[in-house]
Amino acid sequence: MVLHSDLFRVNMAASIVSQTVARGLRRASAKHLFLDKFKCAQVSSRRWLNLQEYQSKKLMQESGVTVQRFYVADNAPDALQAAKRLGAKEIVLKAQILAGGRGKGVFDSGLKGGVHLTKDPSVVGELANRMLGYSLTTKQTPKEGVKVKTVMVAEALDITRETYFAILMDRACNGPVMVGSPQGGMDIEEVADKTPELIFKEVIDIFEGVRDDQAVRMAANLGFKGPLERQAADQIKRLYDLFLKVDATQVEVNPLGETPEGQVVCFDAKINFDDNAEFRQKAVFALDDMSESDPTETEAAKWDLKYIGLDGNIACFVNGAGLAMATCDIIDLHGGKPANFLDLGGGVKEKQVYEAFKLLTADPKVEAILVNIFGGIVNCAIIANGITKACRELELKVPLVVRLEGQAVSRSSAAPTGSR
Ligand code: ADP
Ligand code: MG
Repeated sequence: MVLHSDLFRVNMAASIVSQTVARGLRRASAKHLFLDKFKCAQVSSRRWLNLQEYQSKKLMQESGVTVQRFYVADNAPDALQAAKRLGAKEIVLKAQILAGGRGKGVFDSGLKGGVHLTKDPSVVGELANRMLGYSLTTKQTPKEGVKVKTVMVAEALDITRETYFAILMDRACNGPVMVGSPQGGMDIEEVADKTPELIFKEVIDIFEGVRDDQAVRMAANLGFKGPLERQAADQIKRLYDLFLKVDATQVEVNPLGETPEGQVVCFDAKINFDDNAEFRQKAVFALDDMSESDPTETEAAKWDLKYIGLDGNIACFVNGAGLAMATCDIIDLHGGKPANFLDLGGGVKEKQVYEAFKLLTADPKVEAILVNIFGGIVNCAIIANGITKACRELELKVPLVVRLEGQAVSRSSAAPTGSR
């Protein structure tokens, strides 16, 4: 994917790629991963909390953003009931997965499209039946797709025009930026690629917030005319209020559409959150749906270990993200393939060392373990003791290569690891 605007590239890194980061990392080679600036952004975005569309829309509703009426169902009879209860002229049934591109996706049940419009509520049950429990593959999911556990049954509205709108944190601007395009909808990547002049941005002053003239200019750039321009500008301001309120790193609406009745509506929603704000966003983080996450990564997170599974056979056990990336690169440079990225972080405890080893050795692909610790922020003796305990209790069957350097290294060498 070649994107001409830097800003848009950041946005795409966040919005389109963030859903598939862990999977993408797993597929990519370490060389690609860590030597490439764009992909580095993926590593950090992996940690952003992701919500399903319906959850994001609930947050939007609470901030006065216009979304269509909807219900959520996890079985076909409930979906059918919901469709009848909506009493809408037309209904849209949307598979809920943490990836975009659903409209053009395909289910392994044979059903085409993760978004279906119908005027007949009685077919909703049958459609939901071919979605729920099946995997949906889109251009943002892995090849095997993602299993659908929930569907959203919403009131459909005619859309006369689809635009793209997002607010995101942009490093180059040291703060939030609005990005928009009058050509929104399902082919936004192509718009960014082929007609980058149709992507507009407005840098937001974090102290001042979105100024009215900025909101109106963006609305005009998105092509909203007459009274719709004011309405769109108000929606933009409300979206920014939400962005601040929930500590988002991104709020993306694609499409932000207009209806023949003269309404500006957010038809799709994707919000990413700043993990560092978890302490003050307890309610939002409680919504975290881990069911689409890799179980090993979820287990690692429990122990405060930054682990990302990769597809090689050399397990890496490292402290510090920089050293962990460099270790993956070095393995790759010498013709090997890392089985994972693992950053133990500072202040590590013996128990975490043990748990990290447990995770690494449970991976059947692992044929050797490389420990690369620089004892700047960690004490090598703690690492050595943790490794010794793990080797004894887990009956390690693969070769272990240990490099310990720095703080308390002489004490760690006294520990009977036998392989330093
Ligand atoms: P995705 O981005 O995952 O493909 P969207 O929610 O954007 O999913 O839906 C895909 C397309 O379906 C939209 O671009 C829009 O054309 C149509 N659509 C989505 N929601 C509605 C709705 N409530 N009413 C009418 N059309 C809709
Ligand atoms: Mg969309």
